[in-house]
Amino acid sequence: MNTLDKSSNKIDYKGEGFKTKNLFNVIYVEEAAFKYPITKEVLDKYCNLQVITIRHYKDVFNRTNQHFQIQKQYQSLILAVKDKPFLYEGPQVCQNFGYPNFYYTSFLLNCIFDCGYCYLQGMYNSANIVAFVNVEDFKNSIEQESLKKPVFLAVSYDTDLIGFYNIIPYIDYFYGFFKMHPALTVEIRTKSGNQSFYKTHTALDNIVIAFTLSPQEIIEKYEKNTPPLKTRIKAIKTALDQGFKVRICLDPVFINPVADHLYEPFYEYVFSEINANKILDLSFGFFRMSKEFFKRIKKQSEYSDLFLDEYCLNENVISYPKEYQNNIMTRHYQILTNYMKKEKIFSL
Ligand code: SF4
Repeated sequence: MNTLDKSSNKIDYKGEGFKTKNLFNVIYVEEAAFKYPITKEVLDKYCNLQVITIRHYKDVFNRTNQHFQIQKQYQSLILAVKDKPFLYEGPQVCQNFGYPNFYYTSFLLNCIFDCGYCYLQGMYNSANIVAFVNVEDFKNSIEQESLKKPVFLAVSYDTDLIGFYNIIPYIDYFYGFFKMHPALTVEIRTKSGNQSFYKTHTALDNIVIAFTLSPQEIIEKYEKNTPPLKTRIKAIKTALDQGFKVRICLDPVFINPVADHLYEPFYEYVFSEINANKILDLSFGFFRMSKEFFKRIKKQSEYSDLFLDEYCLNENVISYPKEYQNNIMTRHYQILTNYMKKEKIFSL
């Protein structure tokens, strides 16, 4: 579990006491953000940190010549007020789980975790975390959309809200709103082992907790600062025990001679620990990224060795050649269907 020592601005990402670091360098606050309750709560919580007032978050966040990887080691927090739009149509490279009206929203820009394969490195100039404080504006916009039609809303796609829970508990602020809008199906995707939300809230029919799992070797190599597999499994068990709907996300899956051997024992382990019948569904996707983000990451001075592998370009998306994907997918599918009905497995 990633836990937070609130008084000293330290975070223990692994929850096992062997890795701690300063959480934030400074806190930037937009002039317009001071009047919001979240801003006050955060500033009270981190009263020992330097606070710098700024006109607009983009003045800091969008500056050129920032070094994403260096900044990632010394992240600052930026409290800001979001302008429209608050909702975005779900991208084609993401699974919609059969929902035609698929949207995502971002209360946070960037993430406390540091996955080597994350497209955020190519998307933003800065690794600082922007936290939007005007939650009521998000609610109004989500409500307008969900009153027109049933909506599937991903709220934690390009960040980790459960991982961020001890810093700003966004899902607490939205819990009552989600409860009042049953036509809205909300997916909260996470790699975190933090169990606080599941232990303190009643499960709702329209909230799905989507746990991203990878073999431990992949976690160690590519998912820096995230909790180990066994910690995520513990969190899944707690969420299930508390009655939450749980999705398992096997995404991204890697194809290379080393990774190929990791998945079968990984699946065996996961389903020896978790009753597959209790899992809502499973999402499966190979490593993929937009060509622009991939190119931007490769221009940086540091990037993961997985960007050196050979990929194909298909409709502006870089991923493994289709024939590799089909072969490997067939093998994985054969194993996964030993545990789950095929109707419950969604792949891209
Ligand atoms: S947890 Fe997700 S959003 Fe966060 S760094 Fe990893 S891939 Fe990116």
